[in-house]
Amino acid sequence: MSIAETEIKKFENGNCAENKVFYQAMEEVIYSIAPLLESDEKYQEYAILERLVVPDRVIKFKVTWLDDNNKIQVNTGFRVQFNNALGPYKGGLRFHPTVNEGILKFLGFEQILKNALTGLPIGGGKGGADFDPKGKSDFEVMKFCSAFMTELHKYIGPRIDVPAGDIGVGGREIGYLFGEYKKITSSFEGVLTGKPFFFGGSLMRPEATGYGAVYFTETMLEMEGKETLEGKVCTVSGAGNVALHAIEKLQHIGAIPVTCTDSKGTIYDARGVDLDLLKDIKLNRRASLQEYIEVHPEAKYISVEEYPEGAHAVWDIPCYAAFPCATQNELTDIDAQNLIVNGVVSVTEGANMPSTPKAINDFLSHKICFAPAKAANAGGVAVSEFEMAQNASMIRWSFEKVDEKLKLTMQQIAKRVALTAKDYGVEGNYVDGANIASFKKVADAMIAEGI
Ligand code: NDP
Repeated sequence: MSIAETEIKKFENGNCAENKVFYQAMEEVIYSIAPLLESDEKYQEYAILERLVVPDRVIKFKVTWLDDNNKIQVNTGFRVQFNNALGPYKGGLRFHPTVNEGILKFLGFEQILKNALTGLPIGGGKGGADFDPKGKSDFEVMKFCSAFMTELHKYIGPRIDVPAGDIGVGGREIGYLFGEYKKITSSFEGVLTGKPFFFGGSLMRPEATGYGAVYFTETMLEMEGKETLEGKVCTVSGAGNVALHAIEKLQHIGAIPVTCTDSKGTIYDARGVDLDLLKDIKLNRRASLQEYIEVHPEAKYISVEEYPEGAHAVWDIPCYAAFPCATQNELTDIDAQNLIVNGVVSVTEGANMPSTPKAINDFLSHKICFAPAKAANAGGVAVSEFEMAQNASMIRWSFEKVDEKLKLTMQQIAKRVALTAKDYGVEGNYVDGANIASFKKVADAMIAEGI
């Protein structure tokens, strides 16, 4: 039995349906770091894996709130404080009906390693609730956020745990959460990131994850001797924070993003996505993508029902570079085959774990440049840490300064990942490079801090 198989076997008891995605993330990391475990016994001696895969604590709480019909609603809230070896727990809050402990453990585990890769002093955590902001009034969202923070505030703080946004939690929700925290504690402090700029947010936080994914891709393509993105057709999934800003940055650098998706369907606009219209539909009106073709009837709308099980229209469109930016496991092995047959050169994960393990293997075995989420979408958390630094020192940085620091951070991550892969004999494999580099950083801190 290989060292990776032996390690994975140790955790098989907890592999239940709810923990499926957590195990998927954990297994990927264990297979990747096998060369490190083989080369240095101390990681096993100090039981680093056994300690790393168990969160420091999981806080689970009831959230009760009154809807607009004065009916009492009950949801479940969570905060998974996973690991603070490198700094305060840091990671987003997700409000979505699918949220459960297993999904948050997967996201929190990935977050520890992603945050380590940025080189910044932040640990990993994640949280959220099974609340669906879709279709709720602003007042209902406000009441839910207040009720959620009534419990969460006991466990967070600028040097303890600093949550941010994720799916379903944007500037509006962060504003309501921050307002409630301030009311309860009478303290105006950097306890949440992703705040609107006029009360303590950093410029560029909304753009950071999407822009960062494009900066990472540019560096990776250059290091791998491939052509730049300029003038190239790109496909993007999602129509939320990450996707919109990936599309925006691709347009800035002269690439041609031609797609976006939401949970109901895909837009394919061969002349390039109309970003102003897309922002109006999704940010201003929170409406369906189907409205896009009312303004651009020459574009195509493909609903999810029109596509066979296990495949997605967006990945069947020929492109030079693909950017999955919606959600986990949205790019399957069937999608990977379609992309490969159509000549894709690079795939960058803007979302967390959007590609299935089989899809990733297909990309790697076909020598497609593949940028894994924990490296490629670290721009968001990097700018969140810049927001913490600005809050702590009570100064504001310009858009240009944050953008420059973000670009540099993404370039450094890409180079560190590529170099680590080379050092451990898997040159060009950014998945293994990212997992080894980040695991080593956290593990060395854990060893230095004792048990
Ligand atoms: P948003 O809530 O802003 O947007 C998510 C988008 O994905 C929406 O357009 C949503 O569609 C779509 N979507 C959700 N589920 C599906 C699905 N099953 N199939 C197709 N589309 C779907 O979230 P973000 O943009 O913030 O986050 C997207 C991903 O990026 C997540 O994996 C998140 O964890 C990750 N991420 C986000 C960061 C950030 O800074 N925001 C940082 C790092 C990672 P609909 O409009 O119909 O709901």
